[in-house]
Amino acid sequence: MDNDIERVLYSREDIAEAAKRVGGELAHDYENKTPIILVVLKGAALWAVDVMRYMQYTEVEFIDVSSYNGGVASSGEVSLITDIKSDVKGRDIIIMEDIVDTGRSLMFMKDLLLERGANTVKTASLLDKKEGRVVDATVEYIGFDVPKAFVVGYGLDYSVEGKEFYRNLPYVGILKKSVYAPEHA
Ligand code: 5GP
Repeated sequence: MDNDIERVLYSREDIAEAAKRVGGELAHDYENKTPIILVVLKGAALWAVDVMRYMQYTEVEFIDVSSYNGGVASSGEVSLITDIKSDVKGRDIIIMEDIVDTGRSLMFMKDLLLERGANTVKTASLLDKKEGRVVDATVEYIGFDVPKAFVVGYGLDYSVEGKEFYRNLPYVGILKKSVYAPEHA
């Protein structure tokens, strides 16, 4: 699997440091509050667990939205796959994302939560791919600003025909083009 990676961007140690930094910022900003950590499935699971270790009281919820139907490019349409279970009315929500690219998924979730009466909605994303933005979606807590490339690892996958690859890599790296575009092989 390591052979499919063109370049490692963030090592296991880099990510651990970022999780500690972002977790510390959240612990400070949400002191004496009881936020809901909303984990966006499936890519943000590892990041959310590592960040949460540095926080005090939180509740955890999950949501699954999809803008990728496999492959390496966003389809442009966001759909809700699995909804959040609890009532968000009056609650402070921290969306835990793996990566924000076009910003469409984030906008979709923010709108949904605010429509349902959430008090505040902020986002903590492992990666922010700012160059990919097509809608004005802000990420308040960022692990790393990532260049415009297709990255995998530490929760982020490349899926082919329903099979998910590279999620379990301990680092984040750029996937070789030859893996998904045979003409580059
Ligand atoms: P957006 O709606 O911001 O375009 O896309 C957000 C979602 O697209 C992420 O949660 C992630 O699932 C997927 N995504 C965007 N860029 C990448 C990437 O470089 N690698 C992987 N594995 N997924 C990505």
